Amino acid sequence: MIVLKFGGTSVGTAESLANVKKIVQGLGQDAVIVVSALGGLTDRLIATARMAAAGDLNYIPECEAMVQRHYDIVEAVVPEMRREHTLERIQPVLRELRRLYDGVNLIADLPEKTLAQIVSTGERMSSVIVADMLGASHLDSLGIIRTEKWFGKDIAATDLTSDLIREALRNADLTYPVVMGGFISSDRQTGEITNLGRGGSDYTAALVAAAMDADVLQIWTDVDGFLTCDPRIVPQARVIDSMSFVESMDLCTFGAKVIYPPTIYPVFHKNIPIRILNTHRPEAPGTFISDAHCANPRTVTGLSALKDEALVTLRGPLATDSTAISTRCFNALARKGLTLHMVARSEAAGSFAFAIAAADMPCAVKLLKEEFAPEFVDAELEVLEVVTDLTTIAVVGDDVKNLPGGISRLKEILETAGVTVRAYSDRTSETALSLVVPVADTTRALAALHRDLFEDL
Ligand code: ASP
Ligand code: MG
Repeated sequence: MIVLKFGGTSVGTAESLANVKKIVQGLGQDAVIVVSALGGLTDRLIATARMAAAGDLNYIPECEAMVQRHYDIVEAVVPEMRREHTLERIQPVLRELRRLYDGVNLIADLPEKTLAQIVSTGERMSSVIVADMLGASHLDSLGIIRTEKWFGKDIAATDLTSDLIREALRNADLTYPVVMGGFISSDRQTGEITNLGRGGSDYTAALVAAAMDADVLQIWTDVDGFLTCDPRIVPQARVIDSMSFVESMDLCTFGAKVIYPPTIYPVFHKNIPIRILNTHRPEAPGTFISDAHCANPRTVTGLSALKDEALVTLRGPLATDSTAISTRCFNALARKGLTLHMVARSEAAGSFAFAIAAADMPCAVKLLKEEFAPEFVDAELEVLEVVTDLTTIAVVGDDVKNLPGGISRLKEILETAGVTVRAYSDRTSETALSLVVPVADTTRALAALHRDLFEDL
């Protein structure tokens, strides 16, 4: 069996849906197809919800336009004999959506669980439409993808979800292919509608692939695969034909938008390869992610960048005790589910620094002030400095530790290009070297690194 996931742009128009149909019809084996909402819909569902809550009556025509878009797509792609069936199933969802917007408008508030219900309508409808377009079975994700609370966030209850997926997909009455909505889920305790986070359809597909021991997980998107760098920043970037799970994880964590980072874990553990493919160019080979690659590791596979970063530096006698301070930092931040992107320890300079998403910075600073309150009183720590408007760049490769010249070479490349390196580290991950630069220099920095590492060969 194989699992295919089609993203929003793949199911966004009648033309791309025609490609989806061709791809699925050419498969010749049992498949589970996981789909996103129609392209751009989730953003629009959220924006319209905010409008309604803010008392902006434009939510009404916005909602009507979304309703019409679904009717148009049904008309364009679902064969006439199944159209009534499709409409019978999406009309109640469309009515529910309109009632939710009216409710939000009435109470002038947008509770989180209501927003989750509103955004769920996207995948609830797209999955029905795609199933009926293909004449395939439809499986309701809300009943089988279950979440639980973790630091206030909804995360997949993976064991329960795997059992439910297996139970549903091994049902003898089910015929393949099977279509289900990505992203959407429900709370294992309350049954309320939840989701796996923006971009979470990839993760749904990975959970299904892992539960079913699929042969491969195909992620169908609108790019040719992972590229050596973001092509909008570095036009010379090229497709990476193959890479390891760990490399793909690093590239995604550090900002490559190809797949939702949590996607990789479930398939990695089961050693199920992932292939990234382009729905608009199905003949392109894409990127193959597996562990076969580890036998022949590359020093550099790709570059990625996270903009809107902040660099937090702690100075004082305690900062020289890097093990103690880093453990306490990690633990304090983890309590609120915050993750660090780069840790630079400089024992000589008596400082400890880390990069974090600027949006998480105020919370991180508060947590650190609480955690180290006694040390600040005793002057064990003296300074907590924050610099914003930064970009964290990662140079990723399984064998990056053996990159000739190492981190000093990368630093030199950037400095020669006139970029000030604010911090750098060869210890954040086994397979990535990271450097923090001013956000205004992102393009210059990536172009210089790409030229040196990929073009001058
Ligand atoms: N529709 C959801 C989103 O836009 C999930 C996904 O597309 O993966 O975030
Ligand atoms: Mg996506």
